[in-house]
Amino acid sequence: MSVSTPYTRFQTTLTQVMDMLSLSPEERTHFEKPQHIHKADILIRRDDGTEQSFPSFRVQFNNARGPYKGGIRFHHDADEEEVKALAALMSIKTAVVNIPFGGAKGGVQCDPKDLSSKEVQAISRAYVRAMLQNIGPDIDCPAPDVNTNPAIMAWMRDEYEKETRTYSPAVITGKPVSYGGSLGRDTATARGGFFILQEMMDRDAIDPSELKVVIQGFGNAGAHMANFLHGAGYTIVAISDSQGGIYSPEGIDPVRVEKYKRKTGAVAGEYCDYSGGSVCDLDRMKMDGVQHVSNAELLELPCDILIPAALDNVITAENAAKIQARYILELANGPTTPEADEILKEKKVKIIPDVLANAGGVTVSYFEWTQGRSGEQWTAQQVDSELRRIILEGYKSVRREARRKGMTYRQAAFSVGIKRMSEAMRVRGWI
Ligand code: GLU
Repeated sequence: MSVSTPYTRFQTTLTQVMDMLSLSPEERTHFEKPQHIHKADILIRRDDGTEQSFPSFRVQFNNARGPYKGGIRFHHDADEEEVKALAALMSIKTAVVNIPFGGAKGGVQCDPKDLSSKEVQAISRAYVRAMLQNIGPDIDCPAPDVNTNPAIMAWMRDEYEKETRTYSPAVITGKPVSYGGSLGRDTATARGGFFILQEMMDRDAIDPSELKVVIQGFGNAGAHMANFLHGAGYTIVAISDSQGGIYSPEGIDPVRVEKYKRKTGAVAGEYCDYSGGSVCDLDRMKMDGVQHVSNAELLELPCDILIPAALDNVITAENAAKIQARYILELANGPTTPEADEILKEKKVKIIPDVLANAGGVTVSYFEWTQGRSGEQWTAQQVDSELRRIILEGYKSVRREARRKGMTYRQAAFSVGIKRMSEAMRVRGWI
């Protein structure tokens, strides 16, 4: 059996959908591999005076519909295969929500937990210098992703402007609001997913107060999603971060979790101390009706809605049959494998795929990019209502395609994306 990688998993869905659409061999070649793969070892001086180099990547998958667009992640597992798959997903994503961008992704193979802020800044600036010829407001515009944030985007913009001697706020999105960022960009990924979920529950006439939700991940997407859902009356029964999580059938208050996460660095910080392994105050947990769960256990808990909001490849052939949720909203990129997709389809679990569910982030990045180019500043209300309009348009086109062609939502999203990309390639005379 061949080994599954993030890219082969992408290709499985891609091939399925290209077959369903009877794409010509000529068209297929444009979807099968990225247009460019840029690699560089970036060298920085560590705080202790030694030099260290980190492998880094920028994969530009397709720019038929506009400049390449996509985040940069800092993670020890970021390698060419992963970044390639994420770049491909970005191309589909920007097409699904119909914003004028192509798709790309970047990655630096490093562990930010082992780096000081000064070292992270040095890596961020060195990355921009290494990729200088390949990025730009009209060429390729990076953004945050796993373990990168507005402060990093600010260093990157600053480095780009210094090196090119230009004023280029639109070279990168997800910047701090005080330095060319857009209002609402920080909450955008969660907000977009929340709008879709609300729309689905409205259509299915389901009252949020009857719904139990499990969230895996407490980064930018997971933490904001927890707040939106809690505010709208959903019951969050479990939540986690990379160290593990807590489960409480009666419901969890995300504001309280956030307070402890800030204080102790852990979602379970109110009950557990991870400094020397994992020691939990069991009496206190029992009194509060809370249990400690691993990230694997969390996925299989009884709930109505499961929201993977951390890393890829977590819902697999091994655990898919044990998933109890009726809906899965993929705020993470690539959380479900094709084998798991099959099992969940049999179980009639409705999956709102990553390329739609988390497209709110890149949508508000588009607003930030237009604001950077025009010098205008949008209000928070403008951002919110345009985001709602665009993401629900994307959702409607996916739902329509799924109904017409008897596809899953993932296949339908790929189908909408592939058709829009093909159309752009056709009018440009590439095919
Ligand atoms: N990293 C985010 C994503 O995966 C955002 C990309 C962007 O804003 O360009 O969609």
